[in-house]
Amino acid sequence: MTRFIRNHVDDTPIVDNVFAVVDLAKKAKAQLGEAAVVDATIGALYDESGQLVAFRSVYRPYNEIESKIKANYAESFSGNPDFRKQVYNWVVQQADMRLAHSTIATPGGSGAVSTTINNILDQGETLIIPDIAWGSYRLMATMNNMDVETYNLFEGDHFNIASFKEVCKSVMDKQKKVLVIINDPCHNPTGYSLSQEEWEEVVMFLNEIGEQGPVVMLNDIAYIDYSYDFKNSRNYLETFNAISDNVAIVVAFSSSKTLTAYGLRCGAAVIMAQSDESVRQIEIVMEKSARAIWSNIPNAAMENLVYVTTEGLNDYLEEKDYFVSLLEERSKIFLKEAKEVGLKHYPYKEGFFVTLKIEDKDLCTKLHEACMKEHIYTVQVNKGIRIALCSLSIEKTKGLAKRIKEIFDTL
Ligand code: PLP
Repeated sequence: MTRFIRNHVDDTPIVDNVFAVVDLAKKAKAQLGEAAVVDATIGALYDESGQLVAFRSVYRPYNEIESKIKANYAESFSGNPDFRKQVYNWVVQQADMRLAHSTIATPGGSGAVSTTINNILDQGETLIIPDIAWGSYRLMATMNNMDVETYNLFEGDHFNIASFKEVCKSVMDKQKKVLVIINDPCHNPTGYSLSQEEWEEVVMFLNEIGEQGPVVMLNDIAYIDYSYDFKNSRNYLETFNAISDNVAIVVAFSSSKTLTAYGLRCGAAVIMAQSDESVRQIEIVMEKSARAIWSNIPNAAMENLVYVTTEGLNDYLEEKDYFVSLLEERSKIFLKEAKEVGLKHYPYKEGFFVTLKIEDKDLCTKLHEACMKEHIYTVQVNKGIRIALCSLSIEKTKGLAKRIKEIFDTL
């Protein structure tokens, strides 16, 4: 057959485990009724009656935006100026940041992650990600003929700094450059958040390898606004102030999660470095990429983010806080029951997901399938099974750990 597509691209079809199981869960619900099915697959916020949450404090103002504003192009390829400014304010909040910075609007956090990968690495180079990670990182790299190396995310119940260092060092030795992703706080899919001390050690180490070549750390903060201690959720950013001249940071922000606006495709890449020149260098290529790939970001989505996080802030925080408490309650129930029955999971602190710890792939597959037979739908990830507490009601969370443990014990 004639090959129409690029020579150097993996042309095997995408295997999207999440959507396949989501579909099975949907069918089971249609056949057996909602009550008979536990659907812990969906990575979006759902309320207690099983409905997708669309914050009233976000959509009421959005629906009042004039059609002409919705219809119009954005003011610039890098995003509307007030949006760029306000995203930075929102991302850093009360953190005392002293780095040069600039913000580029992107289609969701996905756009921020992919523009960073594409503009920092050349084809054939290696991206470093955690071994347990959001699947799109690998796809974004491999679609651009980049390799991926993984560090072990955990050692016992904490961040595996030794593995992080070892992998970064070996990639630096090989390619004289490092791009590494840390998805934190509220890591997808484990719900881990690094401590201040762990971040300090990460930054010190990045400076150390920065002596051998440029280092870019991509901090994917997609779920940050679901931190259980929202007020202090930005404190760790202050550790970034200590980066050397050879280290740059891109913080990938997702409006999808923050505003429950997954379909509005809005997010941002916040570039930080010690000098304006370093920031400008990255900003220039990201701006050109934006123009070359997606052109501009929905005008009204940007306008609404500015409104919701300024004039509409109290309404928004009140509504979001309610759902964050709900998430916390769901997680407390699950974790308590998991502990009681001895169901192992990776260290969880906060956020949308808990991941059961099953390092043996065959056993993991067996449990995943056995759960589906009992109409418990989850997502199998590397070294574990992801339970989406974000979309599970308190009622459905109760007793779930015990049921899974019982299924596990039959294998
Ligand atoms: N980062 C992580 C870890 C995610 O799980 C997601 C979405 O699921 C994103 C980034 C990006 O989401 P979006 O492009 O909708 O902002």
